[in-house]
Amino acid sequence: MTGAKVDILGLMPHEIIEGLQEMGEQAFRGKQVISWLYKGVNSFEDMTNLPKTTRKKLEDTYIIGSVKQIDKRISKKGDTIKYLCLLADHNIIECVVMKYNYGNTLCLSTQVGCRMGCSFCASTKQGLVRNLEVGEMIAQVVMANTQLGQTEERGIRNIVLMGSGEPLDNYDNVIKFLRLVHHPEGLNISYRNITLSTCGLVPNMIKLAQENVPITLSISLHAPNDELRKKIMPVASAYKVDEVINAGRYYFEKTGRRVTFEYSLIDRLNDNVEDARELAHKLKDFPCHVNVIPINEIDEVLYKRSSEARIQAFVNTLKSLGVHVTRRRELGQDIEGACGQLKRSYLDSLEK
Ligand code: SAH
Repeated sequence: MTGAKVDILGLMPHEIIEGLQEMGEQAFRGKQVISWLYKGVNSFEDMTNLPKTTRKKLEDTYIIGSVKQIDKRISKKGDTIKYLCLLADHNIIECVVMKYNYGNTLCLSTQVGCRMGCSFCASTKQGLVRNLEVGEMIAQVVMANTQLGQTEERGIRNIVLMGSGEPLDNYDNVIKFLRLVHHPEGLNISYRNITLSTCGLVPNMIKLAQENVPITLSISLHAPNDELRKKIMPVASAYKVDEVINAGRYYFEKTGRRVTFEYSLIDRLNDNVEDARELAHKLKDFPCHVNVIPINEIDEVLYKRSSEARIQAFVNTLKSLGVHVTRRRELGQDIEGACGQLKRSYLDSLEK
């Protein structure tokens, strides 16, 4: 029955106000609806300052989000919480809250599954199921805020689009999500506090640079040359490493926002000192940042994480060649923090 109804969580404030006006309601009713929406109410019935007739009209036209939290895992240290969420069509997605001293960060999903096929990633093993709607991405933030609100004062301050899916493969919905999550009447999160991670879809990176949405761009590079990158990322056959880096340079020039390159170290595959040298050479004169993290081992792939000595050698080589590099803090390893891992283990447990 709800198939034809629009998810109000995916609408911009002006669209909500217009929608109410079309129902013969005044603009201030729209504002009242908006003021309820991001507080986690899940029925129009609960919007108690609206007349019953208005609530009924809203109910006939819209649904409110549909991301139901069904499971959660909290890391031993308590600094990472992974949520498993059920969508209206029974698909499952996951999102992760990471607690940093500068505020809570939400890592959210942009697609059910992913079609990029990176060999080390659990999210892509079953391919792409579908894109997430704008409201389903907003609902992840609202869900996390509601969950956090039960235990502590502060809600989500930062958002990273690093959950399952390739955000630039769901381009229009992701752009609308970014504008809405940033909107002062939406969730009011600063663009500076939002990071989008991409495996390097060059044409859409260039488009993103022109959107006037100055978020931080993170590029999953993981290899300094095409030959090596093709071994682990099929997308490397479509776009060359040099094109990906140049799109990063363009993004920086256009937005002034510093670009980050992600580099996950796989033992004896992409973690050689020569790889670090080649990477440093390619990033010469580019004021960017490199984030190094040892690969999170997943079940069906034989890759091993690099040894401490090899990680240190890789990082030190980059440093000595003038690259601004940090080793990313690994959070939530004990709760299967890597992309797609919790969902996999949940589904496995259902099958058993
Ligand atoms: N599709 C986007 C965002 C989702 S993945 C992208 O490719 O950037 C978020 C980050 O996690 C990417 O840098 C991705 O390469 C990395 N990642 C995926 N699986 C991983 C694993 N098993 N170990 C370490 N990093 C992983």
